Amino acid sequence: MSKPLPNASDFLPGPVLLLGAPGVGKGTQAKRLMDEFNIPQISTGDLLREHRKNRTPLGMLADELMSKGQLVPDDLVNQMVAERFKQPDTEHGYILDGFPRTLNQAEWLDQQLVAYMLPVVAVNIVVGERELLERITGRLSCPVCGTIYNIYSKPPKNDRLCDLENNPLEQRADDTEAVFHERMKTFQVKTAEVIEYYRTHGARFAEVDGDQPEDQVTYSIRVALLKLRHHPEAQ
Ligand code: AMP
Repeated sequence: MSKPLPNASDFLPGPVLLLGAPGVGKGTQAKRLMDEFNIPQISTGDLLREHRKNRTPLGMLADELMSKGQLVPDDLVNQMVAERFKQPDTEHGYILDGFPRTLNQAEWLDQQLVAYMLPVVAVNIVVGERELLERITGRLSCPVCGTIYNIYSKPPKNDRLCDLENNPLEQRADDTEAVFHERMKTFQVKTAEVIEYYRTHGARFAEVDGDQPEDQVTYSIRVALLKLRHHPEAQ
């Protein structure tokens, strides 16, 4: 049994970065933390998929790169994130999911945060590669409410219908085995060094075992945030 923790509202998380390979559960955990801390989730993957849906020039480029498991150029992603930061809901912090994914993005983010009152907290979620493949190829999500399912480990009650919205679930075009291997390569070449950057550059950093039930992962992240917490009075 997990021990009860202090209320989330007793401490401010500030900007929280969820790091980790494709399929470790960044999106699922970001949504849970967002509800708890009342700060928004900023998923660069979701923002790019929105652009793709709206057929903007960025969306068309992203479509091509995403389908190959490659990254969208840093300056375009940074600019998209800069636009998102202008929204007033980011004032008390946010959970970044899928960003930064390169050293260049991490350094850009550092520059943006120089004037920020709260230091960033980076949480790396770790899951073995074989488990990740099953998570990716079994993943389905609801296009209406964003709930994420898995046909192997967290199936919907009715075949491929959302438990909450009752509409058909969708599989991401890049959640195939072939694209997964490309995404893992991209992760190892570009994103693994971002994790080392946060581990070694004095940021508040924690590592969490993502190969546990969802509730337990959330609990472990909360414990990590609490240990690295920043009290409002400390400012
Ligand atoms: P995700 O939903 O986080 O798995 O991202 C899906 C795809 O969107 C990735 O495989 C990349 O092609 C693209 N993408 C998402 N975030 C970034 C980022 N921070 N930098 C570059 N490309 C990104």
